[in-house]
Amino acid sequence: MQKPIYLDNFATTPTDRRVVEAMLPYFTEQFGNPSSVAHAYGWEAEAAVKKSRQTIAAAINAAPEEIIFTSGATEADNLAIKGVAEAYFSKGKHLISCVSEHSAVLDPCKYLQSLGFEITFLPVQQDGLIDLELLLRSIRPETILISVMAANNEIGVLQNLNEIGAIARQHQVLFHTDAAQAIGKIPLDVASMKIDLMSLTAHKIYGPKGIGALYVRKRDPRVRLAPQLHGGGQEQQLRSGTLYTPQIVGFAKAIELALGEMESESKRAIGLRQMLQNKLSQLENIYFNGHPELRLPGSLSVSVAGVDGAALLLGVRSTVAVSSGSACASSSIKPSHVLTALGHSPELARASIRFGIGRFNTAAEIERVAKTTIAVIESLRSAKATAVNF
Ligand SMILES: *Cc1c(COP(=O)(O)O)cnc(C)c1O
Repeated sequence: MQKPIYLDNFATTPTDRRVVEAMLPYFTEQFGNPSSVAHAYGWEAEAAVKKSRQTIAAAINAAPEEIIFTSGATEADNLAIKGVAEAYFSKGKHLISCVSEHSAVLDPCKYLQSLGFEITFLPVQQDGLIDLELLLRSIRPETILISVMAANNEIGVLQNLNEIGAIARQHQVLFHTDAAQAIGKIPLDVASMKIDLMSLTAHKIYGPKGIGALYVRKRDPRVRLAPQLHGGGQEQQLRSGTLYTPQIVGFAKAIELALGEMESESKRAIGLRQMLQNKLSQLENIYFNGHPELRLPGSLSVSVAGVDGAALLLGVRSTVAVSSGSACASSSIKPSHVLTALGHSPELARASIRFGIGRFNTAAEIERVAKTTIAVIESLRSAKATAVNF
C-alpha cells in the first residue's frame, strides 16, 4: 500500500536525517548521565547538554540558565501554568487565557478552576485573534498570569505577542506563551516581546518527539515556579529526572536547522500554501479560516459548506494525510473548539480540513492534493443534490 501524501505537519513532523545523525553518538558511545560529575562519561554528556542549551536559549534571545528541559510542550505548559498558580496564589487566584488554546493549556487551567482559581477564557474574533481591549479590561489586581499562544495549531493564526507582552508587563502580570508551533517558523524574542514563560517542543520542527523546554525568565522580573515533578533536583530543582541527552542534542540541531532555513523555507511554504488556496478557491462556499496574513507560513485551514465532515475526510484520506482539527481532538467526533470559536456551526466545523505544509512537501504533491480535494468535494455535493432531487 502506498501511503498518502503527508500534509499533517502541525500534528508532528518526520525527524530530519541531519537531526538523527547528530543524536546517534549520544545513544551509544557518549551515553553518560549529564549529572554524573565524577567521570568523563558524565562530562561528555554534560558538555553536549550545555551546548544544546546555549543554542536553544540563543534562538529566543534568552540566557542558557533560563531553559528548563521537559518532555515536550504539554509538560512545559503544565509546569508554567500550575507552577505559577502554586507559587503566586497568595498574590491572587485569577488567570487569563483564551478559548482557542491547545488542550495542554486549557486543561491545566480547568484543573486550577477545580481548585478554586478563577480563569477568564478570552474569546477570539472572527479572524482568530484576541481583542486586546478585552484583554486589558480583563486584568484585575489579583491576576497572576496571562497565557496566550504564539501560533495556533489548527488555523495557524499568530497572536500579537508584542502587544500582549507590553500589556502584561505594564500591569505586572506574568506572560506565558505556548510557542510549540511558532519556534523555528517565525522570529521569537523573549526580551523585546516581554515574555516571561515560553513552552517549546522539538517534534513540530523536524526534531524528535518527547523533548521540549520551558523558558523561565530569571530577571526583570524573576519568575518563581513551583516544580511539578520532584526527585533528583535536575534543572535547578524545577524538573527532576535524568536529562535525555540524545533528544536534547536533537532538539538543538532541529532549532539550528530551522533558524538557518527560516527565511527561504518560509517563502517556499507560503508559495505552496498560496497555490493550494488558489486552486481550492474555484469551489463555491469554501472558507479559509483565520487571519489571511497573520498566519504560519504552511498553514491552510478550510471549512467546506454543504458536505458531511466524516465523508470529506474519508474521501481524501487515501491521497492525503490530514486531520479536521487538532491531532488530539480528531479521534473524537466533537467539532474543533477552535473552529466553533470562530463562529462556525458544529456541522461546518466538522467539514474542515487542516492542511499543514512542511519542509519535505513539493509543488507536485500540492497539485495532486488540490485535485483530489476538489474532486471529492464536488462529488459529495453532487451526490447530495441528487439525493435531494429524488
Ligand atoms: C503540539 C502542541 C502541543 C503539545 O506538544 P507536545 O510536545 O506534543 O507535548 C502543545 N501546544 C501546541 C500549540 C502544540 O501545537
